[in-house]
Amino acid sequence: MPPRKVLVAVAWPYASGPRHIGHVAGFGVPSDIFGRYHRLKGDDVLMVSGTDEHGTPVMVAADKEGRSPRETADDYSRLIREDLRDLGIAYDLFTRTTTPNHYRVTQDLFRTLHEKGYIVEDTMMGAFSPDGRTLPDRYIEGTCPICGYEAARGDQCDNCGNQLDPTDLINPRSRIDGSTPEFRETKHLFLDLPAFAERLAEWIKGQRHWRTNVRNFSLSFVRDLKPRAVTRDLDWGVTIPVPGYAEDPNKRIYVWFDAVIGYLSAAIEWATVVGRPDAWREWWQNADANHVYFMGKDNIVFHTVIWPSILLGYEEGGEYGAGKGKLELPDNVVASEFLTMESQKASASRGVGILVRDFLSRYEPDALRYFLTAAGPEQQDTDFTWAEFARRNNDELVATWGNLVNRTLTSAYRNFRVVPEQGELTANDRALLEAVAGGFDLVGEHIEAARFKAALGEAMQLARRVNVYVNDQAPWALLESDRERAATVLYSCLRCVNDLKTMFTPFMPFSSQKLHELLGHDGYIAGPLEFRDVEDDGDEHVVLTGDYDSWVGSWEPSELPPGQALREPEPLFRKLDPAKVEEEELKRMGLQDPQPA
Ligand SMILES: [Zn+2]
Repeated sequence: MPPRKVLVAVAWPYASGPRHIGHVAGFGVPSDIFGRYHRLKGDDVLMVSGTDEHGTPVMVAADKEGRSPRETADDYSRLIREDLRDLGIAYDLFTRTTTPNHYRVTQDLFRTLHEKGYIVEDTMMGAFSPDGRTLPDRYIEGTCPICGYEAARGDQCDNCGNQLDPTDLINPRSRIDGSTPEFRETKHLFLDLPAFAERLAEWIKGQRHWRTNVRNFSLSFVRDLKPRAVTRDLDWGVTIPVPGYAEDPNKRIYVWFDAVIGYLSAAIEWATVVGRPDAWREWWQNADANHVYFMGKDNIVFHTVIWPSILLGYEEGGEYGAGKGKLELPDNVVASEFLTMESQKASASRGVGILVRDFLSRYEPDALRYFLTAAGPEQQDTDFTWAEFARRNNDELVATWGNLVNRTLTSAYRNFRVVPEQGELTANDRALLEAVAGGFDLVGEHIEAARFKAALGEAMQLARRVNVYVNDQAPWALLESDRERAATVLYSCLRCVNDLKTMFTPFMPFSSQKLHELLGHDGYIAGPLEFRDVEDDGDEHVVLTGDYDSWVGSWEPSELPPGQALREPEPLFRKLDPAKVEEEELKRMGLQDPQPA
């Protein structure tokens, strides 16, 4: 069988500010675990995303900073790209929505849907400030009509996650100067979502493997679909390829419409970058391909309703579809819940949160990846606390996995310098080796079902089991009396460590690579990512990518040749001082007086 094509489609972070760890908990780390696992399995992974640079979030930030939206987007796109590289999120292509390629693809889909009658003209109430300027949705704040949250935005309520129109808000006011906006009728183009309602409902009902939150929320959403405006009164965004609109300097495609198209446009860009311009079709026009999307729960309907409607409407039309097959719908839509921080809502737009950049300047990326997987918001809203971060780092990561690696490697290195020779195995040795080898199936099943916490828990459980074996066998005590048996025990331990290294790679790639080298192996099981310059139609931009084809390692028990020279051991993880971490970090967050628990 040829390798399966797996599209890992990761939510596009807004280039409107630095990202905090809640963002990467929701989309970055889970998608990377999934992608790295499938790469190790030998599947053909295409993992794409980029920064979302249009619309009012970027304009609001640019206004505040006194610069152009383009300058703001350039700056934060670079920053986010660096965050994701340093966190080891192994994209095939992490690009931007301001590229000529993205404009071409977005306009092709828009034009095609318009020609097919799925995008139609209507009027809506547009908001204007008292001086006559149009007031974009996100510049308007008011009370959410659904949950009563007082600081809902004109496009979405951050509290209940529902999409809104500015006219829905109770007591609307301008975020610029607090004035009350005036609503006037303006002409816009609308995506005819009701035309897709039946097909969507049927399709979603069939997706029994989706997480319950995603399936239920989407089903209730399609029961009451209305046409949605896909254009806005803005001068920052993709221009509208429809007569009467193309010429208007103050109208643009609505940012959510172009952002979801990024999954397709980034795949097309990747194919061009690797010099096989049609290669994206192997994922997008292939019914056997597996398409899995990752995002926070506030973006579910974009991926289960709006993007699928665009795909259903486009079919195999347009310049890109080119009669070569329908575009694939999502196979799974994995949405994380929210991560709060020290009991506060993590939202960059509200200025509360722990920035990825800051975090990585003081702690190891794998410590963060471990915590976000073991204790992150996979199935329920979760609160990040520094105390719990330090505790899990010390009591779980260091005490279990770090300690197992350290004591077995150190003992083997000191006494043998090489992977010891394996003598005759006892039933107990064999049972251990088999249990660990069986982990590949157990951990793999959980990852494929997007149960990352359970997957990591399974691997940790095996590490604990090997620790128990080490305690029982105490190989260092045998070195004098029975060196051959000591060698066999240490060999069994290192075999297990070598297998667990592979199992931990999707979760903690940096430490697994280090361990790979300490065990005497060469090459990358998880290598560095890289930036690459891309030229497109006179425009230049930088993408995050990597040379994953050259990486070694596969998702199965692997050889550890006796006699292979070991490298001098060093600890995989750093132990933290919990009291110091908590005190310093709460001070940094401006929370010097922690609330008593
Ligand atoms: Zn609400």
